[in-house]
Amino acid sequence: MNHPPESGAFPGDGTDVLIVGAGPTGLMLGCELRRRGIECTVIDRAPDVDPRTRAVMVHAASLEALEDLGLRAGLERQGVRQRRIAFHLHHGAVHTVEFAGLDTPYPYYLNVPQPAVERTLATAFTERGGRLLRSVRYEDHRTDGPGGQLLVELATAHGTFTVPARYLVGADGAGSDVRRRLGLAFDGITYPMSYLLAEGSPQQAVDPDTSAMYVGPGGAVSLLPLPGGLVRVAGPAAPELLGRDEGVTGAAFARAVDALGFGATLRLARTDRLAHYQVHERLAAGFHSGRAVLAGDAAHLNSPAGGQAMNTGFADATALAWRLAALVEGRAGDGVLADYARERRHAAAEVGRATSAIGLLQAMREATTQDLHRRVRESLAGYAEAWSQLYTTYAERPADALPRRETHQLVPGARVPGHVPHPSRPVALFRPGVRPEAYRGALPAGTRGLALSTRQSAWLPAGADAVLVRPDRHVAAVLAPDTRRPDGTPDHRREEVAA
Ligand SMILES: Cc1cc2nc3c(=O)[nH]c(=O)nc-3n(C[C@H](O)[C@H](O)[C@H](O)COP(=O)(O)OP(=O)(O)OC[C@H]3O[C@@H](n4cnc5c(N)ncnc54)[C@H](O)[C@@H]3O)c2cc1C
Repeated sequence: MNHPPESGAFPGDGTDVLIVGAGPTGLMLGCELRRRGIECTVIDRAPDVDPRTRAVMVHAASLEALEDLGLRAGLERQGVRQRRIAFHLHHGAVHTVEFAGLDTPYPYYLNVPQPAVERTLATAFTERGGRLLRSVRYEDHRTDGPGGQLLVELATAHGTFTVPARYLVGADGAGSDVRRRLGLAFDGITYPMSYLLAEGSPQQAVDPDTSAMYVGPGGAVSLLPLPGGLVRVAGPAAPELLGRDEGVTGAAFARAVDALGFGATLRLARTDRLAHYQVHERLAAGFHSGRAVLAGDAAHLNSPAGGQAMNTGFADATALAWRLAALVEGRAGDGVLADYARERRHAAAEVGRATSAIGLLQAMREATTQDLHRRVRESLAGYAEAWSQLYTTYAERPADALPRRETHQLVPGARVPGHVPHPSRPVALFRPGVRPEAYRGALPAGTRGLALSTRQSAWLPAGADAVLVRPDRHVAAVLAPDTRRPDGTPDHRREEVAA
């Protein structure tokens, strides 16, 4: 890690991309930019990685992105693979969300504590030539001339200094100073109840590859296996369960959990840590302004259901990195930042819907007949796909629809699950049997041609031969031989979604 800087820690002309925040989002973005050879700097006001375990679930889309960076296997050694989430109802019924059928080489999620994720990313970033500066605080920024670079004011224990940067990314978390400086509203709600979290040794053995949710009449609590035989027990608690002046103690937590009526299953034999926090659902009014962009918690906050927050920040980083690389290398105009902002705001709103599990939990509480249980099972369909973030699409879909594998369509904006992209070039994925040469000349220079798997081919729209896929695994265009130029050469229909 680099040490707290004087202004001399930066090259004379500043930095191409200045990322504020060395959390999972900022570090992932830094690694993605270094993979593309882009000069960049990550700063953080904190002196080191935050040791609190916060997010733990790393879902399949994030595992695909981490594999691109060569970091997945190392993280797997620090985590525990999870095959399913089991919902235990207070009268004994169990409904499960299975992740095994996902279309990816990694059909599971990983429970791995956030500090391990951050350390892994920070090490990779600095080893790959990234500049990581800790104990440095972002204070302000201004634009230096029309359309020009940004001048960013930073503070250290030794004083303040100004650094020129071509692009600025606010990955500085929920209380983002960059967002405040950009004047972007962060509207939404704060949940009335607190969220409690305890980690330690369970009193009873737990299924090591199954995270669980216990749903009782008075609330719902999750039980997540962690490495080393430890578990996390977490859930919302009404203030009266805590005791007004008591604060958070192990005894208060045990009482709140016991009140649900699941007995010893949720008790800890030894408590290593306790945390207590408010849950918010918020979305920034915009994700960019000029050459400054927001990503991760700075841009969106959700309920902890399904462990989406860190994964959504990773997806922001993936969506931003190839565009920033194209901008820095002069291959794109600033409009691509507006595309990023539009697409990721849409995706974050969808994540918000997939984590609003209140209706689902209510249905579980009320499930007393076979028919009601069947309805609960039906409404669970789609959650593995939604929470995996493999099937995200920037195309419109009905507001209440979760992404289903069977109905996934490779239309512009759709993510291609299981696909391994090129870091900076588009890839054309052809239906098996289609000759790629037929499309030569209709594709951007340097496009690589690959075959779709049989599974993926089923998602092609009727009549389409291929899809052009961006470096963030989303479809840029659908190629179909249904229009031809007068000279007989193909003039394939291309529906563009972004530059
Ligand atoms: C107790 C707790 C439990 C959680 N549990 C879960 C969970 O189970 N599942 C889940 O998905 N998510 C969970 N989360 C949320 C998850 O931790 C966040 O979504 C994740 O950390 C977001 O990553 P980020 O990189 O966007 O922001 P952050 O991790 O918040 O990183 C922002 C960084 O920016 C730095 N920074 C802030 N302001 C400045 C500034 N002015 N100058 C320089 N640096 C600055 C901060 O020091 C910080 O390191 C939990 C959060 C908490 C607090």
